Amino acid sequence: MLNEKVVQLLNQQVNNEFYSAYLYLDFSNYFGSKGLDGFAHWYKIQAQEERDHAMLFYQYLHNNGARVELEAIAKPDVPLDSPMGVLQAGLDHEEYVTSLIYQIYAAAQEEKDFRTAQFLDWFVKEQGEEEKNAQDLISKMELFGNDPRSLYLLNDELKTRVYAAPSLVL
Ligand code: MG
Repeated sequence: MLNEKVVQLLNQQVNNEFYSAYLYLDFSNYFGSKGLDGFAHWYKIQAQEERDHAMLFYQYLHNNGARVELEAIAKPDVPLDSPMGVLQAGLDHEEYVTSLIYQIYAAAQEEKDFRTAQFLDWFVKEQGEEEKNAQDLISKMELFGNDPRSLYLLNDELKTRVYAAPSLVL
Protein backbone atom coordinates (compact mmCIF):
# COMPACT_ATOMS: atom_id res chain seq x y z
CA MET A 1 0.00 0.00 0.00
CA LEU A 2 1.22 3.45 -0.86
CA ASN A 3 1.14 6.33 1.58
CA GLU A 4 -1.95 8.52 1.26
CA LYS A 5 -0.05 11.75 0.65
CA VAL A 6 2.12 10.11 -2.01
CA VAL A 7 -1.01 8.72 -3.71
CA GLN A 8 -2.56 12.19 -3.68
CA LEU A 9 0.51 13.75 -5.32
CA LEU A 10 0.78 10.97 -7.92
CA ASN A 11 -2.91 11.40 -8.67
CA GLN A 12 -2.43 15.15 -9.15
CA GLN A 13 0.45 14.39 -11.49
CA VAL A 14 -1.89 12.41 -13.78
CA ASN A 15 -3.81 15.66 -14.19
CA ASN A 16 -0.64 17.78 -14.49
CA GLU A 17 0.64 15.61 -17.33
CA PHE A 18 -2.69 15.76 -19.17
CA TYR A 19 -2.59 19.53 -18.69
CA SER A 20 0.90 19.55 -20.26
CA ALA A 21 -0.52 17.62 -23.23
CA TYR A 22 -3.34 20.15 -23.52
CA LEU A 23 -0.92 23.09 -23.26
CA TYR A 24 1.36 21.70 -25.96
CA LEU A 25 -1.60 20.96 -28.19
CA ASP A 26 -2.43 24.65 -27.86
CA PHE A 27 1.17 25.51 -28.79
CA SER A 28 0.74 23.29 -31.85
CA ASN A 29 -2.53 25.06 -32.55
CA TYR A 30 -0.77 28.45 -32.39
CA PHE A 31 2.13 27.47 -34.66
CA GLY A 32 -0.24 25.78 -37.12
CA SER A 33 -2.24 29.00 -37.39
CA LYS A 34 0.99 30.90 -38.16
CA GLY A 35 1.98 28.55 -40.99
CA LEU A 36 4.89 27.08 -38.99
CA ASP A 37 3.82 23.49 -39.60
CA GLY A 38 7.13 21.99 -38.43
CA PHE A 39 6.81 23.66 -35.02
CA ALA A 40 3.15 22.58 -34.93
CA HIS A 41 4.19 18.99 -35.67
CA TRP A 42 6.92 19.06 -33.00
CA TYR A 43 4.46 20.18 -30.33
CA LYS A 44 1.80 17.72 -31.42
CA ILE A 45 4.29 14.92 -30.77
CA GLN A 46 5.20 16.58 -27.48
CA ALA A 47 1.52 16.49 -26.52
CA GLN A 48 1.49 12.74 -27.32
CA GLU A 49 4.47 12.23 -25.01
CA GLU A 50 2.70 14.07 -22.20
CA ARG A 51 -0.33 11.80 -22.53
CA ASP A 52 2.08 8.87 -22.23
CA HIS A 53 3.47 10.40 -19.03
CA ALA A 54 -0.05 10.76 -17.62
CA MET A 55 -0.76 7.10 -18.41
CA LEU A 56 2.45 5.98 -16.69
CA PHE A 57 1.33 7.67 -13.45
CA TYR A 58 -2.15 6.22 -13.97
CA GLN A 59 -0.78 2.69 -14.46
CA TYR A 60 1.65 2.98 -11.54
CA LEU A 61 -1.23 3.88 -9.22
CA HIS A 62 -3.31 0.98 -10.51
CA ASN A 63 -0.39 -1.44 -10.19
CA ASN A 64 -0.21 -0.43 -6.55
CA GLY A 65 -3.85 -0.84 -5.68
CA ALA A 66 -4.85 2.81 -5.86
CA ARG A 67 -7.79 4.07 -7.87
CA VAL A 68 -7.20 7.24 -9.86
CA GLU A 69 -9.47 10.20 -9.44
CA LEU A 70 -9.74 11.97 -12.78
CA GLU A 71 -10.08 15.73 -12.32
CA ALA A 72 -11.02 18.44 -14.83
CA ILE A 73 -8.19 19.56 -17.09
CA ALA A 74 -7.71 23.32 -16.93
CA LYS A 75 -7.84 25.58 -19.98
CA PRO A 76 -4.30 26.40 -21.18
CA ASP A 77 -3.51 29.73 -19.55
CA VAL A 78 -0.33 30.76 -21.38
CA PRO A 79 -0.67 33.83 -23.63
CA LEU A 80 0.50 32.84 -27.12
CA ASP A 81 1.77 36.11 -28.56
CA SER A 82 4.96 35.33 -30.47
CA PRO A 83 6.88 32.20 -31.54
CA MET A 84 9.73 33.03 -29.16
CA GLY A 85 7.27 33.76 -26.32
CA VAL A 86 5.71 30.34 -26.80
CA LEU A 87 9.08 28.57 -26.78
CA GLN A 88 10.04 30.42 -23.59
CA ALA A 89 6.71 29.45 -22.02
CA GLY A 90 7.54 25.84 -22.93
CA LEU A 91 10.83 26.02 -21.01
CA ASP A 92 9.15 27.72 -18.02
CA HIS A 93 6.51 24.99 -18.00
CA GLU A 94 9.06 22.16 -18.05
CA GLU A 95 10.98 23.77 -15.17
CA TYR A 96 7.71 23.90 -13.26
CA VAL A 97 6.99 20.22 -14.03
CA THR A 98 10.47 19.32 -12.77
CA SER A 99 9.63 21.03 -9.48
CA LEU A 100 6.41 18.97 -9.27
CA ILE A 101 8.29 15.71 -9.83
CA TYR A 102 10.85 16.72 -7.17
CA GLN A 103 8.00 17.44 -4.77
CA ILE A 104 6.60 13.91 -5.19
CA TYR A 105 10.10 12.48 -4.91
CA ALA A 106 10.68 14.34 -1.64
CA ALA A 107 7.36 13.08 -0.23
CA ALA A 108 8.22 9.50 -1.27
CA GLN A 109 11.62 9.73 0.40
CA GLU A 110 10.10 11.15 3.54
CA GLU A 111 7.76 8.13 3.70
CA LYS A 112 10.61 5.74 2.88
CA ASP A 113 8.58 4.77 -0.19
CA PHE A 114 11.54 3.56 -2.22
CA ARG A 115 9.34 1.92 -4.84
CA THR A 116 7.80 5.25 -5.81
CA ALA A 117 11.21 6.94 -5.67
CA GLN A 118 12.54 4.32 -8.10
CA PHE A 119 9.52 4.80 -10.38
CA LEU A 120 10.17 8.56 -10.33
CA ASP A 121 13.86 8.16 -11.23
CA TRP A 122 12.83 7.79 -14.88
CA PHE A 123 10.90 11.06 -14.71
CA VAL A 124 13.80 12.90 -13.05
CA LYS A 125 15.98 11.95 -16.03
CA GLU A 126 13.16 12.66 -18.50
CA GLN A 127 12.73 16.18 -17.09
CA GLY A 128 16.42 16.85 -17.73
CA GLU A 129 15.82 15.93 -21.37
CA GLU A 130 12.61 17.97 -21.60
CA GLU A 131 14.34 21.09 -20.27
CA LYS A 132 17.22 20.58 -22.70
CA ASN A 133 14.84 20.14 -25.65
CA ALA A 134 12.97 23.32 -24.70
CA GLN A 135 16.24 25.23 -24.30
CA ASP A 136 17.57 23.93 -27.63
CA LEU A 137 14.47 25.22 -29.42
CA ILE A 138 15.03 28.67 -27.88
CA SER A 139 18.72 28.67 -28.85
CA LYS A 140 17.91 27.70 -32.45
CA MET A 141 15.21 30.34 -32.64
CA GLU A 142 17.66 32.96 -31.34
CA LEU A 143 20.18 31.95 -33.98
CA PHE A 144 17.88 31.46 -36.97
CA GLY A 145 14.48 32.95 -36.16
CA ASN A 146 15.12 36.43 -37.56
CA ASP A 147 16.06 35.28 -41.05
CA PRO A 148 13.06 33.94 -43.02
CA ARG A 149 15.10 31.42 -45.01
CA SER A 150 16.78 30.03 -41.89
CA LEU A 151 13.44 29.91 -40.10
CA TYR A 152 12.06 27.93 -43.05
CA LEU A 153 14.87 25.39 -42.68
CA LEU A 154 14.41 25.17 -38.91
CA ASN A 155 10.70 24.61 -39.45
CA ASP A 156 11.60 21.80 -41.88
CA GLU A 157 13.98 20.25 -39.35
CA LEU A 158 11.23 20.15 -36.70
CA LYS A 159 8.95 18.33 -39.17
CA THR A 160 11.23 15.30 -38.93
CA ARG A 161 10.52 14.60 -35.26
CA VAL A 162 9.22 11.04 -34.88
CA TYR A 163 7.01 9.86 -32.04
CA ALA A 164 8.71 7.38 -29.73
CA ALA A 165 6.88 5.57 -26.96
CA PRO A 166 8.39 6.09 -23.49
CA SER A 167 11.25 3.78 -22.60
CA LEU A 168 9.68 3.15 -19.19
CA VAL A 169 7.39 0.13 -19.23
CA LEU A 170 5.22 -0.72 -16.22
MG1 MG B 1 5.67 15.23 -18.86
